[in-house]
Amino acid sequence: MENENINQNNIKSFQLVIASKNIHKIREIKTILNEVIPNIDLLSLIDFPEYIPPEESGTSFEDNAKIKAIHAAKALNRWVISDDSGLVVPALNGEPGIFSARYAGDKATDSDNRKKLLSKLADLSDNDLYAYFECCIAIASPDSLKKSVCAKCEGRIETQERGGEGFGYDPLFVKHDYNQTFAQLKAAVKNKISHRRKALDKIAITIESLAIAK
Ligand code: IMP
Repeated sequence: MENENINQNNIKSFQLVIASKNIHKIREIKTILNEVIPNIDLLSLIDFPEYIPPEESGTSFEDNAKIKAIHAAKALNRWVISDDSGLVVPALNGEPGIFSARYAGDKATDSDNRKKLLSKLADLSDNDLYAYFECCIAIASPDSLKKSVCAKCEGRIETQERGGEGFGYDPLFVKHDYNQTFAQLKAAVKNKISHRRKALDKIAITIESLAIAK
């Protein structure tokens, strides 16, 4: 019992910065982590407006997640968790992939990116609509990378947008065994079944051990 209290106190005083300014991502990560590891103290890059993130120069989601975590942890001198994620359509040679956020250009909005994807779907047959979201999460201390994990959520792309929840490509994505797009599901449902949830579930035990050991 005494040990449990010590562990809980360590977790309470463990501050972790989410290396993102995307309010949707931050909200999802905070909600999921608060459920999986209650009491953890979560900040985000919105709390550090002076910090300039690095160029995402990797060739995979995992590379980019590592780049973001290592850079922010060093610059902020804090523990950092990063998320690099996106939608992959194999019939489009993996597009939008690691370019999901800037698919329609550097200043593109989510809506611009969805429009570009929809225009590319015109030439595909129904069998080509298989797609998945991938999410890679990395955790780093100011000194080094500690761990990275990745997870996928498989489904298909819709040819018309449906729903007003979520962000990014949510109005176009339907998970296997579901009929509604991610943007039609309640946030609480998406957060139980998403690529982000699966990746955070995989790394939760590491975060807990790091918090307890620090
Ligand atoms: P990042 O911030 O460079 O990792 O880019 C993430 C981009 O991938 C977002 O801007 C969205 O376009 C897309 N994305 C990632 N996760 C999700 C999700 O859960 N729903 C919808 N789109 C997502």
